[in-house]
Amino acid sequence: MKILILGGTKEAAKLAGELVEDGHDVTSSLAGRTKEPNPIKGDTRIGGFGGVTGLISYLQENRIELLIDCTHPFAKQISANAIEAAKAANVNLETRTREPWQKHEGDHWIEVQNLEEARDELPKNARVLLALGSQYIDLFKTRDDVFFLVRMVDQPDKELPLPNHQILLGMPSRDWQEEQDLLKSNTITHIVCRNSGSSGAYAKIEAARNMNIPVIMVSR
Ligand code: NAP
Repeated sequence: MKILILGGTKEAAKLAGELVEDGHDVTSSLAGRTKEPNPIKGDTRIGGFGGVTGLISYLQENRIELLIDCTHPFAKQISANAIEAAKAANVNLETRTREPWQKHEGDHWIEVQNLEEARDELPKNARVLLALGSQYIDLFKTRDDVFFLVRMVDQPDKELPLPNHQILLGMPSRDWQEEQDLLKSNTITHIVCRNSGSSGAYAKIEAARNMNIPVIMVSR
């Protein structure tokens, strides 16, 4: 089959590899947020389609038979576009969304509905591990009474607008002990993150549980 995967996640890259192995003609689509994405089996295209109409044209022009939405659970716009475009172009759509993390005994989660609420929950003088994509950082710039340790995959092109911050480049560790060391050495008092459900990002939640650090968790 000719398959288009809307990706940008580890699961999408893995799925592309499996479908290529099975003999399908697979193209993975990335938004272009990461400067050097890991190689993915099959073809890759990078950049937005130009809204729903652009995605419809892409599906038609490339004779896509199956569209798979395997994007991040908080990438809401592209998922909405996929539903509309697949319907209009009469292409089958399969949606694969990760399950959210579940709260366990010992977790100290403050569950909020959005990032604005997360920002407002932070107490004065908090030292925060901010585990969010670069496009969501701006919102926290009014909190000049808080220190932010900002974990990012790529060095940002421009200075972050946060008054008190330090950038930590790289992916999160999968080892909760390493995450615990990071929280300790930076005397982190709070974590802000979204409930992405990613196994690769879960170690910080375990570390926070062990250290009784509150996690301000943006719900799905
Ligand atoms: P979004 O808000 O849902 O999408 C904004 C626009 O970006 C879409 O309208 C689309 O532009 C373009 N786009 C998004 N995903 C695309 C894809 N896979 N291929 C081509 N164009 C795409 O998405 P987002 O939250 O910015 O996330 C962008 C990408 O990063 C997603 O692929 C997602 O899987 C990945 N990602 C996101 C997060 C996160 O925290 N949101 C975390 C890890 C990975 P057009 O309308 O022009 O087509």
